[in-house]
This record gives sequence, structure tokens and C-alpha cells, in this order.
Amino acid sequence: MTQAYSYAAQSATEPLKPYRFERRDPAADDVQIEILYCGVCHSDLHTARNEWKNTLYPSVPGHEIVGRVTAVGSNVSQFKVGDLAGVGCMVDSCQSCASCAEGEEQYCENGFTGTYNGPVFGGENTLGGYSDSIVVKQQFVLRIAPTDNLAAIAPLLCAGITTYSPLHHWKVGPGMKVGIVGLGGLGHMAVKIAHAMGAHVVLFTTSPNKRDDGLRLGADEVVVSKDAEQMAAKANSLDFILNTVAAPHDLDAFLNLLKRDGTMTLVGAPDSPHPSPNVFGLIFKRRSLAGSLIGGIKETQDMLDFCAKHGIVSDIETIAIQDINEAYERMLKGDVKYRFVIDMASLKKESNAA
Ligand code: NAP
Ligand code: ZN
Repeated sequence: MTQAYSYAAQSATEPLKPYRFERRDPAADDVQIEILYCGVCHSDLHTARNEWKNTLYPSVPGHEIVGRVTAVGSNVSQFKVGDLAGVGCMVDSCQSCASCAEGEEQYCENGFTGTYNGPVFGGENTLGGYSDSIVVKQQFVLRIAPTDNLAAIAPLLCAGITTYSPLHHWKVGPGMKVGIVGLGGLGHMAVKIAHAMGAHVVLFTTSPNKRDDGLRLGADEVVVSKDAEQMAAKANSLDFILNTVAAPHDLDAFLNLLKRDGTMTLVGAPDSPHPSPNVFGLIFKRRSLAGSLIGGIKETQDMLDFCAKHGIVSDIETIAIQDINEAYERMLKGDVKYRFVIDMASLKKESNAA
């Protein structure tokens, strides 16, 4: 076993604090990674504070992990010591059900193992990326091309794939008008990726001061969603909407913006339900309301390659691990441009001193 140093939540109401635990030594199929950076996803906050009512404590969040390989098991052929590597939201799945066979491990019929707080259906509580190392099966480790901006790659491992997957699945491309709702961690990646896919991108934000950023990130238009007149001007005009909002809200306000046969896909996962949509708004225009969960491992590699090809990284604000609790408060206020990424050098320093 190897000692790991981390920041963990010990309960829903306490701030994250230093926590030591043991990681397994790499088995034949395992890759051991020194974590250099980890992005801060809103799901980390939902989990640390038990907002989804399924958190196992102690909880070490973090599933936007990038780092360097420090050891590999005897069966590992894809990675060698010194390589860059990434880990996203999953570290295992059954590998035998129909979804796994199709590379859709996130929909594993036997339940995938989350990078933290998994497996959901009993057993060991996995501990995530707010730590100095992790050991992961090679099938769940992503290749990262050499880069001088590694920190800005980290958010691709969740925010990137969670937005790329539905945009790809619903065939977003040239000639399509696509709405992105919410300019946070997921939303800002969605704007960049939908733009790179060739769509006409309309950003919907509750924050008028994000307008210039929205345009800079790749939106063709920005609509302030609290402004009824601006919203009315977009009625029946969009082919697809990706909704990333982390709080319950009126879905009809956005469903009404879809053309006939349009789809709105939800990726935001608030702790309480949205008000039910108006069924007439759906049936009179044959509109669809859908959901989407992260993305498969092969698709995650495709997304990383797509982003590398298009020069897409996340817009980040690097923080020390000691600032994580303050970062959560800022994230709740929408005060992050546009993803916090923890520099694990701050953790190493504290661990050495402790
Ligand atoms: P985030 O950085 O906090 O961004 C959320 C954005 O939603 C905010 O920046 C804000 O944008 C908007 N917003 C927040 N509260 C709002 C409210 N009350 N009304 C309207 N808009 C509001 O969060 P994130 O990391 O992108 O995550 C977003 C959600 O996706 C979370 O619920 C997270 O758990 C979930 N998630 C799902 C998956 C999946 O697989 N489906 C994967 C990862 C994360 P504006 O200021 O522009 O309005
Ligand atoms: Zn996430």
C-alpha cells in the first residue's frame, strides 16, 4: 500500500480538511499516477455536501485528474512511467454488459464505479482526485498529448466529455442553431465545443456580465435568460439545447425556444427536481426532453483528440488545495471564470511539512 495525502469531507456540514489514507499498490492491469492538477466540478460540491443523499464519508472528491505515470503493472502496454495521463469520472465498470460492450461504460447495466463515492451499489468507497496519487485500471486511464498547459486540460475529463458527448450524440454541426444554458464549468466547454463543431451557438445566461466572455468563448449570440423580451425573440428557433444549470428552474422557458422536433438535453443535476414541463409545449411541436451522463472511455479519448486538434482547453483559475472551501462558495455564486483547478504542488508542500 502507498500512503496518500488528500483533502476530504468528513460530513455534509464540515469544510474539507487534510486526510491521509492508503492507495493499493498497482496490480497487473493498474496504472499509478502522481496527480498534478485536479479540476473542481459542481458534482464535487453536490457530493461533499451530500446533496444527492448518497455520499459515503470520508469523501475525497475530484474527477478531473491529470498527472504523470509513476508505476505500471505487468500487463500495462499503453502507458509507461513518465507519461502524462488523465482520469475522469469512472475507474471501473462490469466490462461485460451491452452498454460496456458498446463503449458506453457510463451506462453500465451493473453500475460503473465512480472515481469517488463509488461503487454506488455497496462495497468500497472510492476516493478521488483531491489527492497526491491514484491507482486506476489501464482501461479507464486516458492518454494526454504533451502540452505546456496541463492544468487547463484537467476540466476536459468531466466538463469536456459531459458536453461533447450529447453534442456529438445529437449530431450538432454546421447549419444547426444550438443553445447552451448556463456559463459555468460545463457551459463554457459546451460553447467552445459546439462552436468548433460548426454550429451557430446561442448562449443563455442569468449573468449579464458574462456577455463579453460568452462571445469570446465562441457564442454567436448571448441572451440574458431573465429578460423576457430577449427570450421571446428566440421562440421556436433552436434545433438543440444543452442545459447545464446546477439548480432547479423553469424548463418551459427553454423548451419553448426549440423548433418542431427539437431536443433539449439536461446535464445539470440539481439536488431537487425541476418544475414539471408543460406537456402541450412538448406535444404540439413534437419536442423532446432528454438527459445525458458524462461519456464513454473511447468517446473521452475522441474528445481529448478533438480538443487537441481544435486548440480547445478550459479557461481556468488555478487554486491551492487550502482554498477549496472558499472556491466552493464562489462556485455557488457563479463567481468562477470558468473552472477552478487545484495545483497539487500546494498539497505536496503541506504533506511534506506535516
Ligand atoms: P457551475 O460551474 O457551477 O455552472 C453552473 C452554471 O449554471 C452557473 O455558472 C450559472 O451560469 C448557471 N446557474 C447556476 N444557478 C442557477 C440558477 N439558480 N438559475 C439559473 N442558472 C443558474 O457547475 P458545473 O460544474 O458546470 O456543473 C453543472 C451541473 O452539471 C451540476 O449540477 C453538476 O453536478 C452537473 N454535472 C452533470 C454531469 C453529467 O454527467 N450529467 C457531469 C458533470 C456535472 P450563468 O451565470 O451563466 O447563468
Ligand atoms: Zn464532474
